[in-house]
Amino acid sequence: MAWLPTSAVFATILVAGLGTAAAATAQANLSKVEQRLAATIGERQDAAIELLFRAVDINSGSLNLDGVAATGKLFRSEFESLGFTVRWSDMSEVERAGHLIAERKASTADPVKVLLIGHLDTVFEPSSPFQKAEFTGTERSNLGSRQRYAKGPGITDMKGGNVIMLEVLRALETVDALDKLHVIAVLIGDEERSGKPLSIARRDLRQAAQGAHFALGFEDGDGNPATAVVSRRGASGWSLEVTGRPAHSSQIFKPEYGAGAIYEASRILHDFYRELSTIENLTFNPGTIVGGTDVDYDSATASGTAFGKSNVIAERALVQGDLRALSPEQYEDAKKRMRAIVERGLPQTEATIRFTDGYPPMAPTDGNRELLSMLDRASRDLGLGAIEAVNPRNAGAADISFVATLVPSALDGLGLMGTGGHTVNEVADLDTLVTQAQRIAVLLHRITERD
Ligand SMILES: [Zn+2]
Repeated sequence: MAWLPTSAVFATILVAGLGTAAAATAQANLSKVEQRLAATIGERQDAAIELLFRAVDINSGSLNLDGVAATGKLFRSEFESLGFTVRWSDMSEVERAGHLIAERKASTADPVKVLLIGHLDTVFEPSSPFQKAEFTGTERSNLGSRQRYAKGPGITDMKGGNVIMLEVLRALETVDALDKLHVIAVLIGDEERSGKPLSIARRDLRQAAQGAHFALGFEDGDGNPATAVVSRRGASGWSLEVTGRPAHSSQIFKPEYGAGAIYEASRILHDFYRELSTIENLTFNPGTIVGGTDVDYDSATASGTAFGKSNVIAERALVQGDLRALSPEQYEDAKKRMRAIVERGLPQTEATIRFTDGYPPMAPTDGNRELLSMLDRASRDLGLGAIEAVNPRNAGAADISFVATLVPSALDGLGLMGTGGHTVNEVADLDTLVTQAQRIAVLLHRITERD
């Protein structure tokens, strides 16, 4: 609440949402109700910043289970004040705090069901020096606010996104449009460091997606308000284990001794590179390799040891890597081709590759693109400019990927924008707290008006 004295000053400067002449003319493309939505959100900027600061000031590193729960409690009362039924899904079974699940049914028959996705946790544990929100930039912007920038742990990733979600819902309620939607919001408690297995840690999210027509993710995307995310690559892991026949090095290449484990591992990696590295949006990175006579790799500490001699044919080699693909089809195809490469072994060697599924891909479907074009139109009608798709190579994995195959239209990167995510220089552009909420509120309102 330390920022309140200054906020009282700029509250008087904030007139009714969008104050500039350019924005006022652009509003001609908005219906009366949409103009009220935009104005309501603009008027609430100070209140939204206050809620954001309160959320950021609670430490909720993924492993600080009490802090994640306390953050959940703060948002819980906000959802309840909007008539949502809220429950806490305990996740002690995967050694994490839990998820907040808020649902509000529509009053109309056959309503559109919308899934909203946020997360409560941050990468900043209590041991981090970065713990509190503070204003950092004083600048007069076209929204009239003088305090335009603020830094804080998780301010853009993604407590700001959660606040935007709430501001959208509040504005829709103000114009009596919320009743036309069936809304389910899932605020995940372990996005930054997921509990394992993911099948349990993301069970609630996948369940919430059942029957949803739209899914909106409030992550900060690439930090640019002129973009949104229609596709994200999935991220999985693989490990390759190769064995060869040990013998004196002078015997290598003889039919009965073959090539040894290290040659075979390098043959496999080279073939991966040769045959798959030019496929667009597909990447696979061998991150570690150990080889020799006696080798060991510990995935918990991501470290390994090897013993061997140059005059002995290598008996074992272990390689750990990742695999990122744009669609489930591309992922399956890559696995098939990598397995085929592994099977073509050099003489007297054996190799096996194991894949561990991680975050699934969010493919760029027509439904996602259509939703983006609706958001783009809403943004331009608000006078806030066009919105383009983020290059999937610049978008990391996120929770929306777990529902991408369950929901016909999904869009992410709709949260509070800024820079320096996951570092002690995480800074938010507070104007985007208003503009992002305005765009999404108009988008959702238009969805309720569609036949
Ligand atoms: Zn995030």
